[in-house]
Amino acid sequence: MENIAEIRQGVDKLRELINYHNYRYYVLDSPEISDAEYDELMLELRRLEEAHPELIAPDSPTQRVGAAPVEAFGVVEHPQPLLSLGNAFSNEELEAWYRRASNLLGGRESNFVCELKIDGLAVALTYVDGLLEVGATRGNGYRGENITQNLRTIRSIPLSMPEEAPPRFEVRGEVYLSRVGFKKLNEERAEEGLSLFANPRNAAAGSVRQLDPRITAQRPLDIFIYSLGWAEGKAVPETHWEIMQYLKSLGFKINPNIVLCHTIDGVKDYYKDWVERREQLPYDADGVVVKINSIAFQDELGYVGHEPRWAIAYKFPAIQGTTRLENIGINVGRTGSLNPYAILKPVRVGGVTIKQAALHNEEDIHRKDIRIGDWVVVQRAGEVIPEIVEPIISRRTGEEKVFHMPSRCPVCGAEVIKPEGEAMHHCTNAACPAQALGRIKHFVSRGAMDIDGVGDKLCQALFDAGLVKDVSDLYYLTQQQLLGLERMAEKSVANVLWSIEGSKNRPLPRVIFALGITHIGEETAELLAEHFTSLDELGRARREQLLDIASVGPKIADSILAFFRQEENKRIIEKLRKAGVKLEAEEVKPMELPLAGLEFVITGRLEAFTRQQAEAKIKALGGKAGSDVTRKTSYLVAGVDPGSKLARAQALGAKTLNEAEFLQLLNQAINKTKEAPHL
Ligand code: NAD
Repeated sequence: MENIAEIRQGVDKLRELINYHNYRYYVLDSPEISDAEYDELMLELRRLEEAHPELIAPDSPTQRVGAAPVEAFGVVEHPQPLLSLGNAFSNEELEAWYRRASNLLGGRESNFVCELKIDGLAVALTYVDGLLEVGATRGNGYRGENITQNLRTIRSIPLSMPEEAPPRFEVRGEVYLSRVGFKKLNEERAEEGLSLFANPRNAAAGSVRQLDPRITAQRPLDIFIYSLGWAEGKAVPETHWEIMQYLKSLGFKINPNIVLCHTIDGVKDYYKDWVERREQLPYDADGVVVKINSIAFQDELGYVGHEPRWAIAYKFPAIQGTTRLENIGINVGRTGSLNPYAILKPVRVGGVTIKQAALHNEEDIHRKDIRIGDWVVVQRAGEVIPEIVEPIISRRTGEEKVFHMPSRCPVCGAEVIKPEGEAMHHCTNAACPAQALGRIKHFVSRGAMDIDGVGDKLCQALFDAGLVKDVSDLYYLTQQQLLGLERMAEKSVANVLWSIEGSKNRPLPRVIFALGITHIGEETAELLAEHFTSLDELGRARREQLLDIASVGPKIADSILAFFRQEENKRIIEKLRKAGVKLEAEEVKPMELPLAGLEFVITGRLEAFTRQQAEAKIKALGGKAGSDVTRKTSYLVAGVDPGSKLARAQALGAKTLNEAEFLQLLNQAINKTKEAPHL
């Protein structure tokens, strides 16, 4: 048997390891291991501490929540701590939790509220006299980071409260990023050569914990409020269920999948149902949170350590499967980075067939000791891109091969280098066809010049036919040339030419982004366009001028300088100018636009476009798009299933428009101006 000194050493090592992963997860928003692996380390530590209670120390990760706040944000003391949740992984553990609570309540019956456990970042919002005063992260539970300015950018967080709200109160909720938003953010980061977020949770946390709120504002963050922290000066309902309805009536966004269950079997059914359906959610949820409904009972039950006795997180199983890694393929991106990916023997995991998985870089492959031919554990765990958790070493035959990045580019054969301090390998040939094609695909894409009808396939065809060698060639395409391509008929050709023509008037930030300058994403492009009124001015900028802009560091500055120094790029910009592509900033002031001064709130589903598209149009015409009906709301646009906002708008005297009336109003506004750029 091990002696106690050895056990102590083991416990210390485990704590050190967990502390390291906590730091990566909570402070850097960049975990190295999956949540399932992390949970296993914690379970092991808990087991050891239970068997040897004399080894429990107040600074053990089992005794703490999260991580200390980062001082740079400013620190907020939580009047009432934001703690964690105990976990259950099986029906037996759920029942054991219920029995403990029920015994403490002397057998008095209570019902339960079941909610989805949204996988994001916990925040506390404090309202004083009807206004949002402070927004903070959970931090270590007692002290969090002050991220008020960042949270104010999230549209579903009301900035003001109706009169009936308590004078002082705090709500708690989870800020999250949808799966689609996460995918898009990571695609952009990959293109810019930035490190990728491991999952939507880390991406949301990284987006909220930004020192520059303008960056947060660009990320499609959202929130679900899941509890009332505390309230002063007004009585509030006495059950959690009623509190949630009450918060909804105050204008907070509540997850719709909340139910009241009368028995623990009802809880099990809710859990089972969501285990099967969770993939259909547009965001990640990592379990179900079960709460005892009566607040009086909650107060009686209180806390054990940093976990409430009146609630539990019943975690979903990680979606894992095993398969064979048949090979490792390589994509060459538009910046020349060599991106390895796993080619897997197709396997069904949680209802979806997986054929490929992300492998970030050579170092990562070696760190996990993944070899070609290995049997591997693959995991979806809600993440959009499946990942390889680990190789199954016991199934090795000795035939497996260690992977090495090629020394020559798989597309053009040029030398491959790995710059000092960077994780990615790069093709050194600026004229590499993969890079050139990647640049064209990027130029026409959604957030860039948004050239409808010119997708990946057409880019490839135009490139292969030698008609488009660089992005400027797009503007010199003729009907004849396009008709010569496969599957292009007169109508589709007309549409393509029309879209290309329409893209000549894109606003400056999009043009800057579309050019594909290394390290310049949509956010940086916006910042640059705020400082420079034309592409030429940006091209003439000195290094110091660029470095003066917040968020522009030496890496970005040097990349801009290098881009505008290259003769080839100068030539492309000249060709764009000659073709009539606008390379200057808009001069339209918001006040001159037809919808200036009007605030719109959209509710329900629209038929003609998505809510985002409708909001973009409102903004392009100078209006504001809000998420809550307030006294400032000029128009409520009510689509199908409008919900409670309609009654509120009527009560506040805002005008209500149906979709047809809204479209008519937009058309009138468009006719009034020829300047509206995105329409
Ligand atoms: P937790 O995530 O298990 O539970 C508490 C949190 O749940 C609350 O703070 C709240 O933010 C959230 N929540 C979501 N929906 C809720 C709802 N409806 N009601 C109440 N709360 C709700 O606990 P934790 O202490 O935040 O962190 C542990 C989690 O973080 C584990 O899943 C763990 O795997 C992961 N983690 C991973 C790593 C890693 O390296 N991969 C490191 C540290 C932690």
